[in-house]
Amino acid sequence: MTANDGRVIAFPGVETQPFGLTIVVPAYNEAEALPHTHAKLLTLAHLLKERRGLSVELLYVDDGSRDGTLAVARGLKAEGADVQVISFSRNFGKEAALLAGLDQARYGAVLFMDADGQHPTAVAETLIAHWLDDGYDVVFTYKAHRRDEPWLRTFFVNAFYGLVNAGVRQKIPADAGDFRLLSPRAAQALRQLPERGRFFKGLSSWVGFRQIGVPYEPDPRRQGEAKWSFLGLLAFSIEGLTSFSIVPLRMASLFGAVLASIAFIYGLVIMAETLFFGHSVPGYPSLFVGIMFIGGVQLLMIGVLGEYIGKILSELKGRPVYLIGEHLLKRAADNPAAS
Ligand code: UDP
Ligand code: MG
Repeated sequence: MTANDGRVIAFPGVETQPFGLTIVVPAYNEAEALPHTHAKLLTLAHLLKERRGLSVELLYVDDGSRDGTLAVARGLKAEGADVQVISFSRNFGKEAALLAGLDQARYGAVLFMDADGQHPTAVAETLIAHWLDDGYDVVFTYKAHRRDEPWLRTFFVNAFYGLVNAGVRQKIPADAGDFRLLSPRAAQALRQLPERGRFFKGLSSWVGFRQIGVPYEPDPRRQGEAKWSFLGLLAFSIEGLTSFSIVPLRMASLFGAVLASIAFIYGLVIMAETLFFGHSVPGYPSLFVGIMFIGGVQLLMIGVLGEYIGKILSELKGRPVYLIGEHLLKRAADNPAAS
């Protein structure tokens, strides 16, 4: 089967294996955490098989890690659940890793979970129950609270969602994370989207169907460190914003119109003063401030335009979102220790 932008899906599982779940785990420099996470996921897989008759495969995407993540992933045992390992030719970012997982998933439903073990398997069970028992298509999670995060971050997060959701029909739920479950038809819908700049939170909200959010408390990270920097988050936000909203462009036009109107009225006032009262024109400082202000605003708005043009360029180039260096599949049956 071929996705509509030419990416080949190697394992055409969607039609043949609708009743199953692929757990996609993006991993970047997670060599230490991976074995622990794998053990937890195997337990979850066993449980789902026993209680629900659900076949589960674990799909690890090594996002060009520089530590031993790939070697560790290769060695993971397929005990009772199939294991796929995909490694990228370099670091392409978490969104690309999620997309690769979505493309290569052999089972219908897809669950995204982090490799660092911060996403509790108990919550994963809740997500799966919402899909199997209540028929939801997109089950996303959001952090129960942001108490221990700096207020500046909370402020930016709120500003971001305010902008993205302004005047939009299908709102992106604020605070939603990547930890989410997609039913077979939601996963298939996401595969059909042709864009390269991926912003999964937004896209999986965009596809519609029946959606529900589940609050959860992330477990603390056991090993390694979080990989997001302030600049990284900023870039990610701009990516999300330009993918989902043209509000910044509208704001630019609106702001320009307001400034021009003020300038026009002020111009009339000055003319009237000179014509009727004979006042001379005082004050270069105010002129200077005015020019600086207009110059700054123009540069800012050109920057906004530039973001969108850059986006058009990268979509136009049509490069693949990721390059796979290695891809292996271990079947549970291949493993003598399999139950
Ligand atoms: N990750 C990735 N590629 C990257 C950065 C992160 O695949 O370039 C993975 C990482 O290994 C982890 C998940 O994305 O499994 C979330 O990363 P992290 O724990 O750093 O972020 P946070 O938990 O703060 O959202
Ligand atoms: Mg984490």
